Amino acid sequence: MAPAPGTDTPTRRPRRTRGEGQWALGYREPLNANEQSKKDDNPLNVRARIENIYAHRGFDSIDPGDLRGRFRWWGLYTQRKPGIDGGKTATLEPEELDDRYFMLRVRIDGGQLTVQQLRTIADLSTRYARDTADLTDRQNIQFHWIDVRDVPAIWEQLEAVGLSTQEACGDCPRVILGSPVAGVSADEIIDATPAIEAIESRYIGDKAFSNLPRKFKSAISGHPGHDVVPQINDVAFIGAVHPEHGPGFDVWVGGGLSTNPMLAQRLGVWVPLAEVPEVWEGVTSIFRDYGYRRLRSRARLKFLVADWGIEKFREVLETEYLGRALVDLEAPEAPVTPVDHVGVHRQVDGRFFVGAAPSVGRVSGTLLRQVADIAEAHGSNRLATTPMQKLLVLDVEEDRVESLVDALDELGLHARPSQWRRNTMACTGIEYCKLAIVETKQRAADLVSELESRVPELDSPITVNVNGCPNSCARIQTADIGLKGQLVVDEDGRQVEGFQVHLGGALGLDAGFGRKLRAHKVSAEQLPDYVEKLSRTYLAQREDGESFAR
Ligand code: SF4
Repeated sequence: MAPAPGTDTPTRRPRRTRGEGQWALGYREPLNANEQSKKDDNPLNVRARIENIYAHRGFDSIDPGDLRGRFRWWGLYTQRKPGIDGGKTATLEPEELDDRYFMLRVRIDGGQLTVQQLRTIADLSTRYARDTADLTDRQNIQFHWIDVRDVPAIWEQLEAVGLSTQEACGDCPRVILGSPVAGVSADEIIDATPAIEAIESRYIGDKAFSNLPRKFKSAISGHPGHDVVPQINDVAFIGAVHPEHGPGFDVWVGGGLSTNPMLAQRLGVWVPLAEVPEVWEGVTSIFRDYGYRRLRSRARLKFLVADWGIEKFREVLETEYLGRALVDLEAPEAPVTPVDHVGVHRQVDGRFFVGAAPSVGRVSGTLLRQVADIAEAHGSNRLATTPMQKLLVLDVEEDRVESLVDALDELGLHARPSQWRRNTMACTGIEYCKLAIVETKQRAADLVSELESRVPELDSPITVNVNGCPNSCARIQTADIGLKGQLVVDEDGRQVEGFQVHLGGALGLDAGFGRKLRAHKVSAEQLPDYVEKLSRTYLAQREDGESFAR
C-alpha cells in the first residue's frame, strides 16, 4: 500500500475486533442466555424462592431459569434421569435428561471439619439423600437424590454447624481449596487458615462477586507440597519464603482443565498472609471486569491470562486494582509429586494425623457416621477432606494411632493403601451427571480391586483418573493414565462405553499434560487388561528411580 500524502507510513484502517463481552470495555449488555439470566436476577436471590415457593409447591413449580441456572449458586444441580444411556447424552434436550431430584454440594472451605459437622453431614445423607455422599476432588461432599421440598431443612441443619452450600456451584467463587493439614503439618511454611476464613466471610455471598463470567476456582495453602493442585486453579496462593520478608505466598493465576487445558502461571510476586484477601479480591475483580462473557467456552480466567500474558496481568492488578507494586519473588522449588497426606504423620504438636483412602471418593452417610464415632473414640475432634478424594483424622495421640488405623481399615478406609487405591480417582459419571457418556465410579472401584489382585507388586505411584466425558472433573490431563469417557467401537463393531487414553500427565515440578494417543481407545471391558499391560511394561522397563510419566 502506498503511503498517505504527508506521511511516510502506510495508513491502515483500524481493525475491528469483536468484543468478547468484557464489562470493563463497556460490553454490559448480555450476549447470551446465561448472561441474560444473571442480569435479570442475581442468582443468590433464588434461595428465597426455594424457601418460600418451590419447597412448598414441589418440583413442577420451579421456574426453568431457576432450575437450570440460578439453583447452582446454592449448590443444586438436577441429576441425570436414571436409565438414559450415554449415547443419548448429546442428542436430548436438557429437560429430557433432568431427573426430579438434585445433587447438592456442601462446600468445605479448606476441607476442615469437626466431628459434629461430619455427623451432621452423615445424618443429612441418611435422612434426605438415600445414604449417598461422595468426597469430591475439590474437598466438597456431594449428596444425591435431594428433593427440593427438603432443601430448607437441610440448609438449616448445615448452617447450625457452620456449613453451607452457598456458591458451591455457579459462576462465582467456588470452594477455596486449603491444606488439609493447615496448622499442624511439620512441613508447612505458613498456616493459611486466616486468609481462607477472611475470604469466605468477606466475599462468599457478596453480590459484587456473584456474577462472574464463569466458575472461579481458588486454592490457598501454606504447605509447599502442592497439596491443593495449584497449577489447575484460576488463582492459587502457595507457601513460599522470601529471602528478606520471610514466610508468605507465591501467587499463580490462569490454570484450568476441561477441553482447553492450561497450567497456571506464576505472577512472580510474594504476598504476606495479611494481604492475601486483598490480592484475591484484585484477581477476582479482574476476572469479573475483563473476563470474556460472549462464549461460555472462553469464559475462564485462563483465556484472559493467555491473551494478555503474565506481565500485563500483573501490571493491571497492581495499577488498576491494588494501587501499588507487589514484591518480586523468584520461583521456589516445587515438589516432584504433589503430597496427598495419606498414611500416618507426626504433627508439630507431637500428636499425629492419619490420612485414609476410600475407593475413588465414594463413601456414604452410614460410613461417615462411623468415621465420626471412631475419630471421637480416639480423642480427635477434627477431620479433613482433601483434593485427592481422601479423608484425614487429625490430632490423634501416639498411643491411639494403630487402633485408629485398624478401625478405619475395617470400614474400607485404608491408611496404608495399595498404590492403585491411593492413586485412582473418578468423577461422578453417568450414574448422576447429565453430561456423562460413560459410567465411572463403580468401574474405577472395580478396576482398583482388579489391579490390586493382578499387579500387587506395584511399588511406585501410577495415577489413574477416570472421567465420564471431556469435561475433566477428575483431572484427566494431569494423570499418568487419564481416561476420557466416550463411546468406542469394540472388536465386533458395536458401539460400547469406553475411554480415550491420555498418557504421561503430571503435576508439581514435572507438570505437563498427558499426550492423547489417538490409537489408544479402550472399551470399558478391556480396561483392566489395558492398564495391567501398561503397568507391567513400566515395571519391566523402568530404570532406577524412573517414574511412570517421566
Ligand atoms: Fe460429569 Fe463429565 Fe464432570 Fe464426569 S467429567 S462429572 S461426566 S461433567
